[in-house]
Amino acid sequence: KSLSIRRSVISPVVRASQGPSERSYVMIKPDGVQRGLVGEIISRFEKKGFTLIGLKLYTCSSELAKEHYKDLSSKPFFPKLVEYITSGPVVCLALKGPGVVASARKLIGATNPLQAEPGTIRGDLGIETGRNVVHGSDSPENGEREIALWFKEDEVCEWEPSMMPWLRE
Ligand code: ADP
Repeated sequence: KSLSIRRSVISPVVRASQGPSERSYVMIKPDGVQRGLVGEIISRFEKKGFTLIGLKLYTCSSELAKEHYKDLSSKPFFPKLVEYITSGPVVCLALKGPGVVASARKLIGATNPLQAEPGTIRGDLGIETGRNVVHGSDSPENGEREIALWFKEDEVCEWEPSMMPWLRE
């Protein structure tokens, strides 16, 4: 059947009823930007099928970095972590899709790149925990919290890619 027929059959209303879509905050850290890995990393999430609903290059304040990582504020590495995240521009991504939070964490790999599986972003592109290239929200609640922290409301663009019927039944 042609795509146009499928599109008329699968109405947005039906698709919406297939379950709420989750959102995750993913960030290419300053080392990923400096090393020229932005395209490579964004490409992995695009190819997987998640929808990019927010994207910007941004150099953050230490206040924002501290708020983002507030759960780690008692860790000995916290000051160095804040220094690392504020050391240059990061690329902020908001991604949407079913199960995107857990799936993005799998694509990113373990915190220590030496322990991350080959095929994951950290497993393929890093060697140190303190330079592990990318961040991904660890729960849907944190996904929402972090998107609200890093993006203004009008910087998040809710849209439906026209290829969606080729990605989801
Ligand atoms: P993840 O980013 O995999 O969710 P955590 O939430 O535990 O991992 O830690 C947040 C970030 O803090 C890590 O991605 C890493 O950049 C940094 N970090 C964690 N543990 C250490 C450590 N032992 N030494 C230096 N940096 C660390």
